[in-house]
Order: sequence, then C-alpha cells, then structure tokens
Amino acid sequence: MIVRRASKPIRIGSVTIGGDSPIVVQSMTKTDTRDVMSTINQIKELEECGCELVRVAVPDMEAARAISAIKRGISIPLIADIHFDYRLALMALEAGCDGLRLNPGNISQPEKVKAIALTAKERDVPIRIGVNAGSLSRAADPQLPIAQQMVEAALQQIRLLESLDFDLIKVSLKAFDVPTTIEAYQDIASKIPYPLHIGITEAGTPRTGIIRSTVGISTLLYLGIGDTIRVSLTASPREEVIAGYEILKSLNLRQHGPILVSCPSCGRAEVDIVKLAEAVEKELLKIDKPIKVAVMGCVVNGPGEAKDADVGIACGKGRAVLFKKGEKIRTIQEKDFVGVLMREVEGL
Ligand code: SF4
Repeated sequence: MIVRRASKPIRIGSVTIGGDSPIVVQSMTKTDTRDVMSTINQIKELEECGCELVRVAVPDMEAARAISAIKRGISIPLIADIHFDYRLALMALEAGCDGLRLNPGNISQPEKVKAIALTAKERDVPIRIGVNAGSLSRAADPQLPIAQQMVEAALQQIRLLESLDFDLIKVSLKAFDVPTTIEAYQDIASKIPYPLHIGITEAGTPRTGIIRSTVGISTLLYLGIGDTIRVSLTASPREEVIAGYEILKSLNLRQHGPILVSCPSCGRAEVDIVKLAEAVEKELLKIDKPIKVAVMGCVVNGPGEAKDADVGIACGKGRAVLFKKGEKIRTIQEKDFVGVLMREVEGL
C-alpha cells in the first residue's frame, strides 16, 4: 500500500497538482516554440494520448510571445520553460502561460526572481523551481554531494519566494544518476510542503531511457513521493506520455486505457505470440477503457490469466479459447484472433 506524502495542492490552469489529486502525467514539446502550428499540432497529439500538462521551451522573446497563439489552439494547461533571462518569464506570463519553470542554476538574482514572482502572483501562476544537476549554480557548497547541492539550491530559491509571500510553488530535483535523484527527492520531501515534479533528466533513448526513468520514478512513487511525472526520452513526446501512464498503472496509482497481459512465449507456444501481442497492442492504443486484455501462448498459464482478464485468449495449435469476464465463450480460429478479440474489447 503506497502512502502518498502530504503536499499543498496548487492549480496550473485547470489541473491540480498535489494534495489528493491523481498524479499528473506531463510532457514537453520538441518543436520550435516559435513555429506555432507545429507546436499546436504536437500538443494536440499529446492531448490525444492523455497528456495532462505540457511544457514548451522559451529560448527567446519570439517564443515567449508565441505562447498566446499556442494557448488558443490547445486544451491542456501550458508551462513556459525559462532559463537565463527573467524577461522571458515576464513575457510568457503576459502571453498567458499557466505555469512557469525556472532554473535556479541560471536565474537566481533576488531582484529578478522578485520581478517574476510579483507578476506570477498577480496572475495566480505557479512556479516550478526546476533544479538540474547539470546546471547547478554556485549557491551551494561544491564540496557537498550533488544531491545535497541540489536540495540546497532549491531551498534557497524557496526561501526567496516565501519571503515575497509567494507559495504557488512546485519543485523538481533531477539528475541523470538515479540514486542521486532519489536521495535528493527523499531529502527535500521531508523539508517542504510543496508538490514535487519527479523525473530522471536526459534519460536517453526509449530502449534505455524508459528503464532508467522507470527505476527512478517508480522508486520515488513507491515511497509516496511525487505529484506529477515527466518521463524524459530522446523520442516523440507521445512515448513519454505512454511510458508515464504505464509506470502509474504498474503501481496501481492510475487507470488509463487497457492493460495488456501477454506471456513471453516459449517452446510450448504453437502460434507466434510475439507477433500476435504486438498486433493486439497496436489495436489497443485506440481504446480508452481501463480494461485488462490477455494474450497467452498455451494452456499452462493461458486459461488462468485469460480468465482473470476482461477479455483474453489462450492459444493452441491454429486456434484459441476466448474468455470474457472469467467465462469461456468459444473457440476461435487463428486468422480471427485479433479481429475477434478487438470486437469483444469494443463491446465491453
Ligand atoms: S503461457 Fe505457455 S507459451 Fe506462454 S510462456 Fe507460459 S508456458 Fe510458454
């Protein structure tokens, strides 16, 4: 049983982060933010696969100004990612962003942070203090372990915001190194009341990045730490959202779309289970319902798992037994496996 750390909820546009709210899945666009149409199109794709919050890079004033046009074309809240220049944050706020991410490693001067916080407060826009191990300021003692430096960098900026009576705060402490990230989050989780955005930075391509992200994010979630997640992948942002939900589903923290149970196949299988499971998985991407579908290779575990699912098949040579809600329905022929299974799924 996971007991979530208590955190002070904040609202980013229509989405609540922290408190008792479901853990939010977010991603970041990979388009040039100044290219409004491409950015809207990518966000629309993200909305379709369930992304609940999106962040865009704001490298210059043109990108900051583009936020107002992008906002008109999308339905989910938008967060502006700001580095180096506080004026980009002010412009992004004026353009209507729903949240800001600031990096204390490159915007730390109190008067600049103050200017941002005052405008953000007027507009009720939260700020994420996004510490990254790759861009730590010299705020903390460089002799300290990286995790402690990250925590110290965040605490300094939190204290500054609190001194300005600003508490719409969210915090992230990301590193590529998983134990460092876990240590940093565990440390700060007991020191502040604010919600935490968790993730492993620069995690890599899907093959390794999903594993690295899952190890870090899941460990934290299991400890009750984390109110919103972003899986960083060198891939389409859709992959990030799909991976994010799979992590949450694996820990029974959220339901989102179907769960596919498929056996790994072995020498007992008399049909190509790998090909069959891939075909079913592709079809299931079109389904929203939180159902369990089983594709099993033989009679050893097949009937048991298939019976436990909402719909399932346990295959034999050239045919399979179709199960629905624990009941054996009928035997189906191999050429009909995917079609029949999907018709049953659609009928649920
Ligand atoms: S269900 Fe059957 S085919 Fe699949 S891995 Fe288990 S024993 Fe092998």
